[in-house]
Amino acid sequence: MVIKKIKGPTKKDRILVLAPHPDDESLGCFGYIHKALKSGAKVKVIVLTDGKFLSKTEQRYKETIETMEKAGLKRKNIFFLGFRDLHLKRTVYCTTVLIKIISSFKPTIIFSTSNYDFNIDHKACYYHLKKALEKIKNKPKVYYYLIHYIFFPFPRGLKPNKKIFPPLTLINSKRTWFKLELTEKETKLKKEAILNYKSQLRMLLFVTKKKLFSFIRRNELFYKENT
Ligand SMILES: [Zn+2]
Repeated sequence: MVIKKIKGPTKKDRILVLAPHPDDESLGCFGYIHKALKSGAKVKVIVLTDGKFLSKTEQRYKETIETMEKAGLKRKNIFFLGFRDLHLKRTVYCTTVLIKIISSFKPTIIFSTSNYDFNIDHKACYYHLKKALEKIKNKPKVYYYLIHYIFFPFPRGLKPNKKIFPPLTLINSKRTWFKLELTEKETKLKKEAILNYKSQLRMLLFVTKKKLFSFIRRNELFYKENT
């Protein structure tokens, strides 16, 4: 299987990253956001839910702000929509808000979670985006990133010199996989950033340290749907 190299961001790009919860943006796209800002691209991160299911909202928002600062993103480019955690599917208004954001920011590239993700809010993010894009004339490129999936990333744990590969069950003609290679320095920065998510690293039951650390690798992975 060939994993293509993702086209690097340029200063003409306007990048919109959708994160269902405060931390998804960093686990999935920290490296891309960092590179995009370095290249002079405009980046906005939209956190859809309040993340309340796992810990206090204020704490989680603070962690996203601090983590994104490490990527070089200013506070004014992070938006917290505050929809109820675990209820995104039923939050019809989310589609309307996304239409407004996309119409005004006019992104060239959007990053979103996938409909194959096991988390219900991650799936909902995908469907709200799909619906919103039906109303948008100039369609941006959309890349999907995966967080919760069986044996993904594999192997689990802090292995910063290893690479992430797509799950075998999601390798087929429906999508094209892309990788963004990170330098040792960038991987180190991503690690420092993820260590900021103290509320999540404390969690033992749902999101274990091992799972979070599995995203600190020498690449990030995205896919595009083949139409
Ligand atoms: Zn999430």
